Amino acid sequence: MTTPATPPATESAPPAAGILPPSRSLSPNPFIVAVILLLIGLIGFGGYRASEYQGMQTLRTDAGHRLDLFAAAVDGIVNRYAHIPATIQLNEEVLGALHPARGTASVQAANRFLQHLNSHIGSIAIFVVDERGFVIASSNWNDPDNSFVGEDLSFRSYFLEGLAGRVGRHFAIGITRGEPGYFVSHPIRHGNRVVGVAVIKISLAPLDKAWDLLGAPALISDSNGVVILSSVPEWRYTALSPLPLDTRVDISMSRLYNGGPIGDFPVSVNAAPGPEGQIVHMKLGTPPPGVARSRNHVDAGGSYLVHGRGLQDVGWRLLIFSDLRPVRAQAFGHGALAAVATGFVLLLLLVVAQRRRIVRQKLEAKELLEQANAQLESKVARRTKALTDTNARLRKEVAERQQAEQTLRAAQDELVQAAKLAVLGQLAAGITHELAQPLGAVRTLSGNAVEFMKRGNLSTVEQNLGIIARLADQMGRIITPLKTFARKSPAIPAPTDVAHAVGAALFLLDQRLSTSGVTVDNRCEAEQAIAWCDQNRLEQVLINLIRNAADAMADSEHKTLTIEATPGTDGSLELSIADTGCGLPDAGALFEPFFTTKPAGEGLGLGLAISRDIVREFGGDLRAENRPEGGARFILNLPAAPGENALPDADQ
Ligand code: ADP
Repeated sequence: MTTPATPPATESAPPAAGILPPSRSLSPNPFIVAVILLLIGLIGFGGYRASEYQGMQTLRTDAGHRLDLFAAAVDGIVNRYAHIPATIQLNEEVLGALHPARGTASVQAANRFLQHLNSHIGSIAIFVVDERGFVIASSNWNDPDNSFVGEDLSFRSYFLEGLAGRVGRHFAIGITRGEPGYFVSHPIRHGNRVVGVAVIKISLAPLDKAWDLLGAPALISDSNGVVILSSVPEWRYTALSPLPLDTRVDISMSRLYNGGPIGDFPVSVNAAPGPEGQIVHMKLGTPPPGVARSRNHVDAGGSYLVHGRGLQDVGWRLLIFSDLRPVRAQAFGHGALAAVATGFVLLLLLVVAQRRRIVRQKLEAKELLEQANAQLESKVARRTKALTDTNARLRKEVAERQQAEQTLRAAQDELVQAAKLAVLGQLAAGITHELAQPLGAVRTLSGNAVEFMKRGNLSTVEQNLGIIARLADQMGRIITPLKTFARKSPAIPAPTDVAHAVGAALFLLDQRLSTSGVTVDNRCEAEQAIAWCDQNRLEQVLINLIRNAADAMADSEHKTLTIEATPGTDGSLELSIADTGCGLPDAGALFEPFFTTKPAGEGLGLGLAISRDIVREFGGDLRAENRPEGGARFILNLPAAPGENALPDADQ
């Protein structure tokens, strides 16, 4: 037999894990994270700066517009009546009042004129100063508490300017009531000589209502750089930058700010900040009365963008402090938005990249899996082919073996048949003897019948023919078992009555046993032991065993053959053939083919070997033993027929 092909050790399948690529870590690279964070920070900062720049540009434009608007308002308030002093010299009463020889009536007339004029245009006061600096006539002449009449204003700049023949105009705080105002003076000439100065004091109170136009803290500084008006009360009368000594002296002498102290502005501010403006950081004080806290006032310190604008005619500068915090808050919002958007986009890119990486890894794994699958399939195909080949070889071997078995079986059958014929040959003499007597009687009776027929004794003829018929039946009964025994038939197991088979074997050997003087003790009863075997073959076995027993007892004094069927274990049957012969030879090869103790020509030594083969073919067995009392016993172990119980107990 060929050994099935075993696959080479190198073909063993690799572990599944081995074919997959090592899974790359999906945790983000710290360097990439740092770069992303840096990028987010930079873009956020860039967004902040861009938004801040844009906001400041808007703030500048807005502040410019508001400054223009406010400047127009200031110009309107200040210049609307600036020409009034120039016209006063045209008034005769005023000129009369300034005349050295003036009378009370002319002064009074001038007072009334000025009073009338002042009430008509709504300024604070209009008054006339003589060339010494004393007020000669004033619109408020009849107000005992506030009247300027008689006051020495020679220290005022507007007086000095007017006396010098020029138009004087500046801010100053009133001496009488401390009321601030804008003073415009004009010389009063008599001929070529300046005989006095006409002055109008314009109220700046309307400006306080105009701060709202600016919508942010603002101030107006005069030509000295001193804040004269502001939406923030604390800022008033502070110097934007330290004042030079001579300016301080001038201010003190002219009592421009009523002699009050000039403080320092909270921060150093350039009075002319330029188009880009100046950024300052400071805290504002309490808001000015009437100014909405939310628009013009900031409690906490903050950054402000300072824009300025000159008010040409009056020599003032208007400064507006735009709060940068909303701009910066908005810029911060935009920066944060840009950072978040950048973060989102980068995250999206990362997710997309990650997904692509995962998909790529999956594709690679799939490809590797397909490769491994293909390898596995080719391996399976190779192995299948090897197995198919082996299978075909095995089938061929099985067929050969079956063929050999068939040949062997045929040979066995032939052998059995040969052994059977050999037995028949040995039985032939006895059978011939058995047949000789009836045949002789037939011949005699038939001859007699012919004679009696000639004589017409038909009744005797009929009697003879009856005897002949019975003898023919007797011969037939002798021949039938022989025919049955000699028949070459395949061994087909079937329910077989053991007693029947024993009877048939004894019948065939009857002549032999009786001539040998063997007493047969057949204890088998019909239909008591039904074995599962082939009756013909069982008879052959029994004939072998009975003949051997008869041979063994040839020299025995007592020749008794005992045959009985007993229940065996496992529902089988035990058929025992016991003799009183010489007993079994010592040699252990009793069942070996060609073992015989008989003289040449009498035994072939095949009887027991063939008998055991026949019994084993039915699924039974044959064994031999010596009897204690002498002689041998052969025990046939036979399977009981299906549905048949073992033999009843002997005592039943
Ligand atoms: P053969 O009868 O041709 O010798 P067998 O196989 O039938 O061949 O028998 C083999 C031998 O077994 C016999 O020669 C004989 O020595 C021995 N033998 C068989 N049956 C008996 C028996 N009943 N008692 C003693 N010896 C026996």
